[in-house]
Amino acid sequence: MTKVITRFAPSPTGYLHIGGARTALFNWLLARKNGGEFILRIEDTDLERSREEMTQAILDAMDWLGLDYDQGPYFQSQRLDLYREYIQKLVDTGQAYYCQCTPEEVDAMREEARAKGLKPKYNGRCREKNLGPGPGRVIRLKAPLAGQTAFHDLVKGPIAVNNEELDDFVLQRADGTPTYNLAVVVDDATMGVTHVLRGDDHINNTPKQILIYRALELNVPLFGHVPMILGPDKKKLSKRHGATSVMKYKEMGFLPEAMINYLVRLGWAYGDEEIFSREELIEKFSLENLSKSASVFDMDKLLWLNSHYIKEGDPRRLARLLSEHIRDSHSDLDLTYLEKIVPLLQPRAKTIMEMADQAEFFLVADDQLQYDAKAVQKFLSDEARNHLQEIIRRLEQAETFDRQELENILAKYLEDANIKFKVIAQPIRVAITGRTASPGLFETMEVLGKERTIRRMKRALNRI
Ligand code: GLU
Repeated sequence: MTKVITRFAPSPTGYLHIGGARTALFNWLLARKNGGEFILRIEDTDLERSREEMTQAILDAMDWLGLDYDQGPYFQSQRLDLYREYIQKLVDTGQAYYCQCTPEEVDAMREEARAKGLKPKYNGRCREKNLGPGPGRVIRLKAPLAGQTAFHDLVKGPIAVNNEELDDFVLQRADGTPTYNLAVVVDDATMGVTHVLRGDDHINNTPKQILIYRALELNVPLFGHVPMILGPDKKKLSKRHGATSVMKYKEMGFLPEAMINYLVRLGWAYGDEEIFSREELIEKFSLENLSKSASVFDMDKLLWLNSHYIKEGDPRRLARLLSEHIRDSHSDLDLTYLEKIVPLLQPRAKTIMEMADQAEFFLVADDQLQYDAKAVQKFLSDEARNHLQEIIRRLEQAETFDRQELENILAKYLEDANIKFKVIAQPIRVAITGRTASPGLFETMEVLGKERTIRRMKRALNRI
């Protein structure tokens, strides 16, 4: 069996977006599942639109997602000689020819065809002219005029186009650069790519590429075209629907494993399972289960997956991620302290950003703690004041200040004062966190520690 070789071939004209990342992931999985190789190729022949910082952004995103590649990154801009060589081969064997028609003339041909109700295309005027190179000349493929070009799409099934529909499309532009279709064929063929999985926006290119493979007598790889990703309004996913760049999700506090799990389910299913580890994905991934229909981007589901992975995550790693999110607002962060805070927030935070917000009261200096005005008004009443005073007195006697001791102290107080926990729970919470919602009271007090808890309670008392 030949080794499975897949590739991801982004153009560095923008950030790695959700759709591209999903394509990369499917190719990566197919390679990993089959013990094959995954290639990264940067398609930067469009010099005007390609930007170096976008290449870097794509590499960063691949790295963040953990989509490691066995070869590359290759850069098409460094392979121009190779493309020229292949184009020359096609010219030499009479399967490609120089064309001197100007863009305006070609437009006019298209217009003429359209007016006759035909498919707009180049009419082959230079096909038999045997022209040589010259300024302004492009090179076109001498495409078959009759017959069909067919392939079996790995996702969509059999696809065939009548060659009449295709024209003698351009292989080399007037400026000497190769077109996408030519470069991609030369690359996929010389890199030994066996499976091309890509977005179905490329499906019309595939017959053209097959014609180039045939003309060059190269092995045609297998093609699979995955359907688009739609926004909730069923229109193609775009910026209108919110962030589309993968790294934006990192900034928003998503974990790469949640992103991977989410992306794979956008167009692939395994029964009704939702949660997959990376190893499980490699084991279970198969082309048969790729969906033929478009998938809809669902933020709630992504959030759900992210909160799952946050709950399950290693607190030390999450503490490190959290520290990256809050570094700007808190300069002297103590990682050990964060590691104590994180487990309290893991069940509550759907993103690291949310976690940062929920961690804020732990991190501010005691005299900087902000109090929610409504919470103060509602819970720091005169009655609460008396309780808090006595509780502070008892807390001052605490020795270990761990949850168990705190629970005992409070339980004893409830008994002595003959009150229910709820009478003092919210007043204490508001006093030490400034808010009405926080992790469990005893855990919170324990993590804050004796000194800070008491200082905050006293400060709150002064506000009443
Ligand atoms: N550079 C192309 C793109 O970004 C890749 C197409 C392909 O995978 O063949 O759309």
